[in-house]
Amino acid sequence: MTLSRLVLTPHGEGRVRAGHPWIYRADVARLEGVWRADEAVTVADAQGRFLGRGFYNPRPQIVCRLLTRDDEAIDTGFFRRRLEAAWRFRQALAYDGTAGRVAASEGDRLPGLVLDRYADVVVLQALTLGMELHATRLAELASEISGVRGAYRRVDPTAAAIEGLGAESGWLVGHGEPETEIREGPCRFRVSVETGQKTGFYLDQRENREAVARHASGREVLDAFAYTGAFGCWALASGAARVLGLDTSAEACAGARAHAALNGVADRFETHGANAFDALRDFDREGRRFDLVILDPPPFTRRRDAVEAALRGYKEINLRALRCLRPGGLLATFSCSHHVGPALFEDVCRAAAEDVGRPVRVAETYDQARDHPVLLTVPETRYLTGLLLEVLE
Ligand code: SAH
Repeated sequence: MTLSRLVLTPHGEGRVRAGHPWIYRADVARLEGVWRADEAVTVADAQGRFLGRGFYNPRPQIVCRLLTRDDEAIDTGFFRRRLEAAWRFRQALAYDGTAGRVAASEGDRLPGLVLDRYADVVVLQALTLGMELHATRLAELASEISGVRGAYRRVDPTAAAIEGLGAESGWLVGHGEPETEIREGPCRFRVSVETGQKTGFYLDQRENREAVARHASGREVLDAFAYTGAFGCWALASGAARVLGLDTSAEACAGARAHAALNGVADRFETHGANAFDALRDFDREGRRFDLVILDPPPFTRRRDAVEAALRGYKEINLRALRCLRPGGLLATFSCSHHVGPALFEDVCRAAAEDVGRPVRVAETYDQARDHPVLLTVPETRYLTGLLLEVLE
């Protein structure tokens, strides 16, 4: 059991007591004893009252994220209980498919740990030094609980720089193939655990791909930030007439076409390697129209101080997309910037609709997949929002 103790300032204590697990450097009044990066420190208020335990790392701004508020050891038994609870939560979702998030960091009260399952492998991403130092044990537990045969460590370069992580990507358990095939509802996709974006696939859009596909029958679709083409493949599996997948990356376009072929819909799937902002303007000028446009761009900002610029970007892309819709057309549009949440995103889309001058109805609202749960006291865990907008005839 750890001997070191992190004593908080009243401000830091206030945040922790309100349910937030993060402790910033400025929240620390003092660190008592000798700490080790792989051992949880005890966190206490100025009066010495116990607040919880978490790993400490003096390097990042967020020096500690509470793992528990109970007086319990952070050991194999602790991780097993947390991972089993996370696994039970996923089982209850009863997803139709072989992929999904197994542990979602703060959302599963395992801050700093992301685990994704792709068929018979899990991918582990450690976002804090403490979690990285326990990666092998966590990978073994996750493999055992989820019944997979291999676990791959995928280094997140941003977290590595912030936390000072030294590990390299590679297999922690078993030696699987770098590419694995998953099933998501009616579709199959190839996922590279070594090179795919995020940990390999945009699992957070799972339910949204399914929801949007329900409206796709007979429609001509533009999938404007296509990457894997997963939205397009789902749409075609649900009877879309045609899909044009757009991505700046030629590699992404090739991957999307390969997915269309794997799903037997290549004859109705085309790609266009272009910047969506330019392509949408060109389509508008040429009078090219669609019945369903999907906008799933990368986050336009990760920082609060860049929100204004991000909002301009979201307004512009949504404006251009609305202009390219036929009457009765649908726009499925998303923001994955935490700083541009549901209310702000709706404001931006409203401003775009006002400029377009067409009546637009909110047909559906979207959220991140349920296996990326939101912890109510940690607003940062909500980062993906979306709308299905219908241009009324
Ligand atoms: N919808 C995808 C995920 C999209 S990720 C899925 O379900 O798998 C965002 C993608 O947008 C990336 O592949 C990136 O290459 C592409 N991208 C980024 N900026 C772009 C731009 N300006 N125009 C078109 N594509 C862009």
